[in-house]
Amino acid sequence: MTIKHPRDLPKIDEFLGDECFADAIEMYGYTPTIEAARTVIDETRSALLNQGNVCDDEPAGDDETPLTCGLLQQRVLDRLAHDAKPGIRPVINATGVILHTNLGRAPFSKKIADAVHEITSSYSSLEYNFEQKSRGHRNTHVEKLVCELLDVEAAIVVNNNAAGVLLVLSTLARNREVIVSRGELVEIGGSFRIPEIMEESRAILRGVGTTNRTHLHDYERALTEETAALLRVHTSNFRLIGFTKSVSTKELADLAHRHDLPLIYDLGSGCLSADLAALLPGEPTVASSIEDGADVICFSGDKLLGGPQAGIIVGKERYISAMRTHPLLRTFRCDKMTLIALEQTLRLYFDDELARRHIPILSMALVEPEELKRRTELFTDRLNACGIQATVEPSSMVMGGGTAPELYLDSWACVIDPALHEGVPSPSVIDSNLRASSRPVICRLIHDRLFFDLRTVRSDEEDLLLENLLQSMNIECPS
Ligand SMILES: *Cc1c(COP(=O)(O)O)cnc(C)c1O
Repeated sequence: MTIKHPRDLPKIDEFLGDECFADAIEMYGYTPTIEAARTVIDETRSALLNQGNVCDDEPAGDDETPLTCGLLQQRVLDRLAHDAKPGIRPVINATGVILHTNLGRAPFSKKIADAVHEITSSYSSLEYNFEQKSRGHRNTHVEKLVCELLDVEAAIVVNNNAAGVLLVLSTLARNREVIVSRGELVEIGGSFRIPEIMEESRAILRGVGTTNRTHLHDYERALTEETAALLRVHTSNFRLIGFTKSVSTKELADLAHRHDLPLIYDLGSGCLSADLAALLPGEPTVASSIEDGADVICFSGDKLLGGPQAGIIVGKERYISAMRTHPLLRTFRCDKMTLIALEQTLRLYFDDELARRHIPILSMALVEPEELKRRTELFTDRLNACGIQATVEPSSMVMGGGTAPELYLDSWACVIDPALHEGVPSPSVIDSNLRASSRPVICRLIHDRLFFDLRTVRSDEEDLLLENLLQSMNIECPS
């Protein structure tokens, strides 16, 4: 029956009693379903009343579709599906930026995600000591592993590197001075600033040198009875070029040790892979910083390490032991999901080949250019076969995540020029259609052409990418 008047609208109880809502109630719950049904009926009632004022016999459905109970039901189901879409959902990253800060930094491999799923869906030995049948500490497992892997005396794991830096400074330098080069007073995205963190820790900042040049004697002259530590901060997300001078980690460590002080190194990225480091000149590795003599080093879990968001502090037991009893540690503790993912990721680093295979950011960064080119060609062939005119072009990519900012690495892109097609939407509309897809696609739009770098697209996402492209361009694949 076509609904023409508000009085034809179904009663909410009868309406919901319809079989087709049983599944919806099962899936979305009774209250959300009844709310959605009410909203749809109310909106339709208003539309019918408004319409009545203008023109009596206009259909109240969409365009030509008559307004029936079935149409109302469909609207309720659409609304429920729309509202149930999670805020955080998977996207296809076709930008080629491996550590995309807005897209969740480092993704997990299936192996890591499966481990998290398996262990968190039962009870676990998170804080249980089997041998002593007593309470253990949640960080023991992962911290032991860090010590083994990096051959360090001690390690502590916290929520993120910002927390790590705050914990280190609060423990080692409260109400005392920390000497740091003015060229290293960095701000990291998301409002992490070294001077502010230092203030928060109650350490007293002693800036030395100038923005572009800091010498060893600048540090030497600033040393007093009040000095608690020397601090080095990796200038992760910017580079100083031109007339510059900085002091090496080794020189700083020697100076600190001559005065029986620790050198603290906020390393930021925390690269553990020598292969990856070889690709990113200027990115220090954790191992090289330890070798150079830094006493306390802190770095992120989800930047170049390729694991979950975490902050890892490593170094000498004499400095780290006090952090274990600091009240802040409890407020920075990691969830079990983080600890599981981090432990599983670190285990992979005992074997270069395993790490490369199961840590996605390593696979993506270290893929052979020829292999990437071949993959891009095959995908481009598929697009062409479907009537999308695409070409393979050399392109470049950046690591992202505030690492190696000046470094453009050679890459390949599949490029679509919408101007070569007839009757397709404009480049920016295609771009926004792609972002509005059920599995949103993020690509680069440069001078009205769309660039897709498959380096950051999983092979099993290619079909979906193709499907989304066809839909976004209103092209129907002949086959
Ligand atoms: C990224 C970064 C941080 C912050 O690390 P998060 O893990 O994002 O909290 C701190 N210091 C440096 C030098 C960084 O590069």
